Amino acid sequence: MRLSDPLTEHLRLMEQQKGALSRLNIHTVQSLLLHFPFRYDTAGDESTISGLVAGQEATVIGTLDKLETKKSWKRKIPVSEGVIQDASGKIKCMWFNQPYIAKMYQNGALVKAVGKVSGSGAKMYLANPQLERVSATDVGLFSPPQKNSLKKSSDLPSGAEDGPAGQTFLQNSSVLGSSVAKGLFAQYPESRGVTSLWMRHAIQKVLPNVIEEIEDPIPAEILKRYNLPTLKTALVWIHTPHNLKDAEAARKRFAFEEVFFIQLERQRERAAQAKEKGFTVDAPPAAIDEFMSAFPFTATVAQKRAINAILKDMRGEILPSGARLGHPMSRLLEGDVGSGKTAVAATASYAAVRTRPQGQTFGTLQVAYMAPTEILAKQHFESFIKYFEKFPINIGLITGSGCFKFPSKIRRNQPTTISRTQLLKWVANGEIPVVIGTHALIQKSVQFKHLALVIIDEQHRFGTNQRRQLAKKEVRLPHLLSMTATPIPRTLALTIYGDLDLTLLDEMPPGRKPIITELVKPEERGDAYTLMRRELKAGRQAYVICPRIDEPDPEKAFALQAKSVKAEAKRLKKEIFPEYEIDILHSKMPSRGGSASGGKTKEGVMRDFADGKIDILVATSVVEVGVNVPNATMIFIEGAERFGLSQLHQLRGRVVRSTHQAYCFVCPETRGEKTMDRLRALSKAKNGFELAEMDLMQRGPGELSGRQQWGISDIGMEALKNLKLVEAARTEAVALIQKEPELRKHPALLAALMRRTQTTHFE
Ligand code: ADP
Ligand code: MG
Repeated sequence: MRLSDPLTEHLRLMEQQKGALSRLNIHTVQSLLLHFPFRYDTAGDESTISGLVAGQEATVIGTLDKLETKKSWKRKIPVSEGVIQDASGKIKCMWFNQPYIAKMYQNGALVKAVGKVSGSGAKMYLANPQLERVSATDVGLFSPPQKNSLKKSSDLPSGAEDGPAGQTFLQNSSVLGSSVAKGLFAQYPESRGVTSLWMRHAIQKVLPNVIEEIEDPIPAEILKRYNLPTLKTALVWIHTPHNLKDAEAARKRFAFEEVFFIQLERQRERAAQAKEKGFTVDAPPAAIDEFMSAFPFTATVAQKRAINAILKDMRGEILPSGARLGHPMSRLLEGDVGSGKTAVAATASYAAVRTRPQGQTFGTLQVAYMAPTEILAKQHFESFIKYFEKFPINIGLITGSGCFKFPSKIRRNQPTTISRTQLLKWVANGEIPVVIGTHALIQKSVQFKHLALVIIDEQHRFGTNQRRQLAKKEVRLPHLLSMTATPIPRTLALTIYGDLDLTLLDEMPPGRKPIITELVKPEERGDAYTLMRRELKAGRQAYVICPRIDEPDPEKAFALQAKSVKAEAKRLKKEIFPEYEIDILHSKMPSRGGSASGGKTKEGVMRDFADGKIDILVATSVVEVGVNVPNATMIFIEGAERFGLSQLHQLRGRVVRSTHQAYCFVCPETRGEKTMDRLRALSKAKNGFELAEMDLMQRGPGELSGRQQWGISDIGMEALKNLKLVEAARTEAVALIQKEPELRKHPALLAALMRRTQTTHFE
């Protein structure tokens, strides 16, 4: 048996199971083994069969007999049956929909069964019991087990040390079943069609057959340094642990492995970039000062620091020969909404357009600025026009639905629409030095003459390949400035952005009135509405955020239902704010273009809101990050406990763009003290980073926004709570790549990395 073998070669699978495994992305022996349990259940104390009572959760040990599979006549589903016997008596076992049970065990096998005693009297049976093979030595003599009669196998290693004992342990494959002696049952994430029990059986069937083939990708000395178990040991320990300590040690190893792999990928990317040639961008310092002094405000210290770091990166170094050598910059600028990232981006762009292409006395270097949505691309276009007011250059906007150019030939202070073909021509010949756009920018047809700087907004991965794709025939790789308002905890930043240099904009422009955040108990809604009405009367606008789009989910009719956008909009119009214009926005609406039903589009609604035609916008949390409607000064968040703190912080960021006082109302559905406490952090925390750290520590990594884009598993995300582990993985990855970027001496490691790159899909 080989790790790469399709599972179907070794396990007989029913259609239903094939479907389920495919949903879990399990196709090969290897992917099955890497499907980890999320919990271990301990079985209760063993009972004698004669003493069982109906309704009890029972654990019995005995021989299994009379195995067969039938079709239940009522429901036409397969039912496996068997009888377990101990010295005191026997009891029937029934497994519904699990016909493989009869095939996986043989009559006469000694097993431990854990399940609920169903039926009554003579018709009592164990329903869907979990089964484990046990060996006679584990249970002492084959006799009705007594409490504590389970013998502890002395040859099992414990703890994280993985000496020779670990190896002996693994060669003795009967040990795989004996974990049960301790009563630890691995519980797996299930999908309809495969149960946790099935997973355990399948893993026990394949693991002993491949264990010898498994090669550890992590160099042995690294494992030793951090006291981590080898891959073989870790696989056994995670699936069939002898004790929880071993299971923990195994999880730690896999967590380390994942973070280590990501770090290696990033370090290799970084090493590759360092070898590339970049553009030397060296605008005269006086010109930069002039540009910055034309800002309608004074740059914050953080903005100045960021600008200096970027300019230094792009200037390159002076070689002994006097020539300048530039390497492509890779920098991440992280700053809360409103911290002024656009001014930094504009200054970096100005530096590029004030620089001539090498060896030329005419023309300028070019900049591409990519935004995640059309609305944002247009906003950046408008901001750039203002930042460049006194430094007239051509600026292009390219989106899926149309192209613009500034300035217009006729009216010099206004943009004009132009054809795509015309715009592409001017970009290709260098007449338009700054192009702003959506993803449409990376299309094949867009050719730059001297693309020196790529700026991207809220796009978490943008690798060398994409840069090169944008730069096309250029031999030099453009500089990259990646910007995000997503607050990212430090461990995550170190991992996911390990290939980027990090700059924080950790200072808000002065003079902003801090947003007033109110925790609103459900019964205090009225007070919040009174305040909102006062502000609406003064001409301001509001967002109301609801957790769901539609009417109650019929399947959960009795569960506590979160408010829905549609119902809440109706209620507000009818009962609370009949005199105001209310509209809705959610992800199921078409983004733009006329919809056949005549329904509204996201773009249309957003435009109406920006134009003040809508007073209250009821929306899901998808209202685009960064959308700028300065007149919207209130946000009311329903079902607030359903959101992570950093997500709430981002939602709140939508109303901090104005000089008017802004308000955020945070209204949970329930009013447990814990909920309230957690939400109170919103008024206390200094910035988004702090809230992201809190989310990570309190609620787990699932709460972090943006995580889909990061290509990291649950176990890897768990690891991010552990700064020491992340730093260790980073140190090792940096050292390894510095010594040997090609990893030729570590073929198993290289192979594992290649496999990862093929299966992760974040690029
Ligand atoms: P971000 O993109 O980081 O969310 P923006 O660049 O859109 O922030 O800036 C938000 C607002 O703050 C803009 O209206 C901008 O003109 C203004 N701004 C930026 N920097 C400063 C500053 N140093 N002082 C005052 N206002 C600033
Ligand atoms: Mg922005």
